[in-house]
Amino acid sequence: MAIHLWGGIETMPEVSIFKQNLSDLLGGKSAKGLEKSFGFVTAGDLLQHFPRRYAERGELTSFEKIEVGKPVTIMATVSSITSRRMQNKRGWILVVTVTDGRDSMQLTFFNQKWREKELQIGRSGLFAGTVTDYRGTRTLTHPQYLLFADGSDSDLEALNQFAGSIIPVYPSSQSITSWQIASSVDVVLASTSDLVDPIPESVRKEFGLMDWTQALHAIHQPQSHSDLEAARYRIKFHEAFVLQSLLEERRRARRGIKAIARQPKNHGRRTRFDAMLPFVLTNGQIRVGEEIAADLNSESPMMRLLQGDVGSGKTIVALRAMLDVIESGGQCALLAPTEVLASQHFDSVMKLLKDMASDGSLMTSMNNSGADAVHVTLLTGSLPTAARKQALLDIASGTAGIVIGTHALIQESVEFFDLGLVVIDEQHRFGVEQRAVLMNKGRGNTKPHVLVMTATPIPRTVALTTFGDLDVSTLDESPSMRVGVETHVVNAMTVPNHLERVWERMSEEVTAGNKVFIVCPSISEQENTDDIDSDHSGAPIATNQKLHSVNESIVELASRFPDISFGALHGQMKPELKQDVMSRFTEAAANPVDVLVATTVIEVGVDVPAATMMVIQNAERFGISQLHQLRGRIGRGDRPGLCILVQNNFGNDGSTDRLEAIRSTTNGFELAQRDLEIRREGDVLGQDQSGLSSSLRLLRVVEDSELIEIARDQVTSIAESSTWDAVLAAIDATDFERVTHLEKT
Ligand code: ADP
Ligand code: MG
Repeated sequence: MAIHLWGGIETMPEVSIFKQNLSDLLGGKSAKGLEKSFGFVTAGDLLQHFPRRYAERGELTSFEKIEVGKPVTIMATVSSITSRRMQNKRGWILVVTVTDGRDSMQLTFFNQKWREKELQIGRSGLFAGTVTDYRGTRTLTHPQYLLFADGSDSDLEALNQFAGSIIPVYPSSQSITSWQIASSVDVVLASTSDLVDPIPESVRKEFGLMDWTQALHAIHQPQSHSDLEAARYRIKFHEAFVLQSLLEERRRARRGIKAIARQPKNHGRRTRFDAMLPFVLTNGQIRVGEEIAADLNSESPMMRLLQGDVGSGKTIVALRAMLDVIESGGQCALLAPTEVLASQHFDSVMKLLKDMASDGSLMTSMNNSGADAVHVTLLTGSLPTAARKQALLDIASGTAGIVIGTHALIQESVEFFDLGLVVIDEQHRFGVEQRAVLMNKGRGNTKPHVLVMTATPIPRTVALTTFGDLDVSTLDESPSMRVGVETHVVNAMTVPNHLERVWERMSEEVTAGNKVFIVCPSISEQENTDDIDSDHSGAPIATNQKLHSVNESIVELASRFPDISFGALHGQMKPELKQDVMSRFTEAAANPVDVLVATTVIEVGVDVPAATMMVIQNAERFGISQLHQLRGRIGRGDRPGLCILVQNNFGNDGSTDRLEAIRSTTNGFELAQRDLEIRREGDVLGQDQSGLSSSLRLLRVVEDSELIEIARDQVTSIAESSTWDAVLAAIDATDFERVTHLEKT
């Protein structure tokens, strides 16, 4: 063990084996190779490089799945060997055929005739290299190999010592073979004993878990299958446990941060507001309202995620919380992802508050100017200078009770007098950093309370893994969607005439006084500009595929339906133009828009009760959650909705499954679950907000949901006990990478 000098005093601290440098343990050459190929520096890096699979001695690797161009490690038996002189050059070529018992593969060596002595017919071993295709035969040229001892060869015996009968096969590189990794692991494991274990003994007992040291030995050098199974279970448990511990630690660290408790003496404004609502609150809305009120009452900042399907009534919940904060003297910010949504929020907040609201304009006669007026300020990039100045002044002086804008605006130069609550609409557009900036807007050293709202339902285990440091509230009824939406898939390739019927139906809807959305993936055909947000989920992008565009669709449809008024909406339009189109589509106007042809900018939040029909072009291009979001724009009034998904391919990209999932249910949670099953793990964690999931190696958030729940429960109770500090210390000692993650936040 290396001796470290700390603060001038020579000590021999208990440096965990995990933090020791590989160069001290393995020697420079091997350590350099591991660093170059994999970036491994410490023993911990190497010990957590788990085998990709295991081969069993005597049981050969099937060649079937072996891909040309990839580095592979196979277990095979030599079935023939020939050597001949090369035709054009001097020297010998040695061709060895190896077999998996069914297929065969060729090994080629140039000028290494001496290998004949080793590679005798009947010998088995591991062979590693990059597979090439040589005239239709899969070939490894100059592979590295490790032959199994045949009882007569003591040198080979030595090489074999680190492998039991179950042979680990590691993710390897061009220059380092699986068994070279195995032999390095063997060296490191030899000095690994009695690691501190983050999982307390009582938990290990209860769940029959190996200890950490045993598990690492067993995952790398399993003695039996049951040994391996037990190790895998323990390591998955370990990952879930460590992750939940770190998330718990974040929650606790937050408790050290001060917020101002927002405890109104009475709920005057909220009570008046409730009485004005044209409907009764759902039980869910009341329950979540109480959860939020309790958080606001506390001197540590709320960090709550409110998830509820589109139309579940999140806005009202947020508004009620805001009224309480205002009642207790604080200000609120409501942040939307786009300017269009910010203005829509402003309109709907004004409408909901009715005469409780004042919009800060100088025409006070039209506004409530009474003592309890709620002053609502819209702050957008398109405000004229004078109005912007006034808005900023109102925010700084505390006059503005509710400030509505996009996050960009609020983040910039805006100073609040006393920001008590930040409500962020549509969580998935905001990153961790943006959230952090907002948190710094509180009065003095305090932080505001934060409520993030998302309409993308997150299955519980994903929430536990990736949003685990937030508290989660859920609205699971949709009061505004009782009428329902019917969904059909129309394949434009196989049944083009069905599309004709769709346009007729569009015309009928307009005649009946309803509004229609047409969604296209691109803005214009010439540019084929893709207006799909980069965070869209899972839909593969096919090249050379016809993409419907907003501009061309309008031209085409307008010439066919001259009596219908079409309007365009996409991300490249000027804000004033967007406003104009939206208001002509949403409200009674002199020159109304009947059919809005738009890109996915309408995906979130847009609330148009008169909209009854939506046609989604190139529906195969969109992911499940995005289609669900889009569809949520219709059927919000008292008339049922009709959603047509137009498929423009033959579905060989898996899109048919997605579209069928959307067709068969409107339940957001069911769809989110389906989405998880269809998508790959990496895509699921693509939305990770915690930055922690990159350290997961064996744990799978979808498959291992039960384990994640167990770990969460265990951590929650241990965190209240005297063992907690020991758990954190053990994590610190055995896992450098994860601790770094923690420090970053
Ligand atoms: P979300 O933001 O969750 O998509 P909103 O808050 O915009 O949902 O609400 C959607 C629609 O439902 C709005 O028109 C709203 O007025 C209405 N709404 C909200 N709560 C209720 C309720 N309890 N009963 C009936 N309608 C409601
Ligand atoms: Mg909303």
